[in-house]
Amino acid sequence: MAAPPSSSPSASYCVEPATSPIFGGSLKTGKIEQPHLRFLPVLRKNQGFALKASMGSPGFTQQLDKSKLETLSKAEDRCDIFDSLKDRFLNFKSKYMENVEQFENLAKAQSPKFMVIACADSRVCPSNILGFQPGEAFVIRNVANLVPTFERGPSEVNAALEFAVNTLKVENILVIGHSCCGGIRALMSMEDDANSSSFIHNWVIVGKNAKKKTETAASTLSFDDKCTHCEKESINHTLLNLLTYPWIEEKVANGELSVHGGYYDFIKCSFEKWTLDYRGTKLEEDGRIAAIDKVLWC
Ligand SMILES: [Zn+2]
Repeated sequence: MAAPPSSSPSASYCVEPATSPIFGGSLKTGKIEQPHLRFLPVLRKNQGFALKASMGSPGFTQQLDKSKLETLSKAEDRCDIFDSLKDRFLNFKSKYMENVEQFENLAKAQSPKFMVIACADSRVCPSNILGFQPGEAFVIRNVANLVPTFERGPSEVNAALEFAVNTLKVENILVIGHSCCGGIRALMSMEDDANSSSFIHNWVIVGKNAKKKTETAASTLSFDDKCTHCEKESINHTLLNLLTYPWIEEKVANGELSVHGGYYDFIKCSFEKWTLDYRGTKLEEDGRIAAIDKVLWC
């Protein structure tokens, strides 16, 4: 019986560009040869191989053998996943090549009209649901699409805001919330005053005013319905938080910048959009936004 390619399966079962000698050559054809994978079916068919070859006890060796096959299976799955990503990238590249001039211009500069703040949830990618193309939207995503107040100090969210508003001079900030948001559920579930070492707790607490308003306005609702209510309340709360940044408020007051809320319901596949009316909005601590241009796309 032929020996397997290696006696100890390892991470090398996926091609690693830094070490693979075939990486450079394979780029010309777009096909990466993975010769080690040719042995996988052989290994699967010969599950007794390790048992016969081993000097150890049969039980122990069987365990090792099972573990080896599971590792190989996982490695193969990982390769399949990246094969799929490679295909998608090459598909994107074919579109790139059809619009080379557009991408050459984007390589020199970007001037997006939108900054989008969306949840990190894998189901709510803004480019996917709203069709943003490269160069159209400067996007930041975080758990529950929150923006801390100006007073809370530096964060990656306000670093991105500063760049988008003051350097790129975007004309619109769109905050997108969504149905079944796990971050909002965590906010609604947590103890208000509990000290927690959880990073999630210490992040979603940014939305505590939205939770407070939900508890007051929707006290008779079920927990699930309260979460749905808070998903929208939190978007408005984030719009108010945006106005705590002096350079955002100034541009909104001057009409140079508009801030909008959006709510994507992926159960109904609908999208609500509204725009903050600066003149009618109350900015004090318990403030409430006035909204205009409400639309529902369904
Ligand atoms: Zn979410």
